Amino acid sequence: MRAAVVPEAGAEFELVEREVPDPGPGEVLVEVDACGICHSDVFTKEGTYPGVAYPRIPGHEVAGHVAAVGEDVTTWHEGDRVGAGWHGGHCFTCEPCRRGKFLQCENADITGLTFDGGYAEYAAVPAEALARIPDDLAAVDAAPLLCAGITTYNALRNSGAHAGDLVAVQGIGGLGHLALQYAHAAGFETVALSHSPDKRDLALDLGADHFVDTAEEDPAAALQDLGGARVVLGTAPSSDAIESVVGGLGNDGELVVVGVPGDPVSVDVQYLVGTRGDVGGWGSGHARDSQDTLEFSDLRGIAPRTETYPLAEVSAAYDRMLSNDARFRVVLEP
Ligand SMILES: [Zn+2]
Ligand SMILES: [Zn+2]
Repeated sequence: MRAAVVPEAGAEFELVEREVPDPGPGEVLVEVDACGICHSDVFTKEGTYPGVAYPRIPGHEVAGHVAAVGEDVTTWHEGDRVGAGWHGGHCFTCEPCRRGKFLQCENADITGLTFDGGYAEYAAVPAEALARIPDDLAAVDAAPLLCAGITTYNALRNSGAHAGDLVAVQGIGGLGHLALQYAHAAGFETVALSHSPDKRDLALDLGADHFVDTAEEDPAAALQDLGGARVVLGTAPSSDAIESVVGGLGNDGELVVVGVPGDPVSVDVQYLVGTRGDVGGWGSGHARDSQDTLEFSDLRGIAPRTETYPLAEVSAAYDRMLSNDARFRVVLEP
């Protein structure tokens, strides 16, 4: 098979020919139809995550179909359309697993990081890490939903917001353009917060009821004018941006951060005490959460905006993702 390999931490991609992996016990061989390039692939490319062994094939937005199953796999069959996200499997026996908290598994695998991912024609994936892809959902659309999609969908549906509540999405990029669609589909009064006024039309098109140009307007004041946010979903990985919206939370408001800034965030705790507010974080979900995301996206016609590249152009595709200019998710088609 053809694969894009990171030979060692910080090195350039190498396109190589490799043997198609043999699925071991409990594993499924997935023929990859599409694989999204996520900013978290930087962990694999640059070796900034503990425990990456090289050479490694990145890619944790893997959409494809089952080519073969290993011993003991009863839940998947050849031809099934399946996808794998960041959560690449769990041990079923540690304390968090015994409590059903598979995402917090102490021995969790990460697709494209602790085992080879989807920048290749095939990937061998633990059976419990796979989600079923609905028939009508294209692989190119399903791929980004397996990380950017699940992260925003799962963060919103696990928040305290109910239909009609004011929910703001901060940052209209790879995560934010999906979050707006989910927030609208969930029945929230949806606010887009962006410092790019050229994204106004797009944000309204994706389901925002309000657009706040944060370069011109204080987002906290704008949210208070709208009654105060029940939830702000922070997708922009910037501590300044995160700090700027805390004052926009209404009573019992929650700031849920999914875009991780490189530096600490300071918040006005007095304000949080006074409003019973929360500042917290959220990270993706397990395979059934992925499947919920795919099914809901299919039901409501929610899809990412994508730019596609062949596997041979992996370096250009990766640079495009890093550039922040992609509209909005870059996807490889091996
Ligand atoms: Zn990701
Ligand atoms: Zn475990």
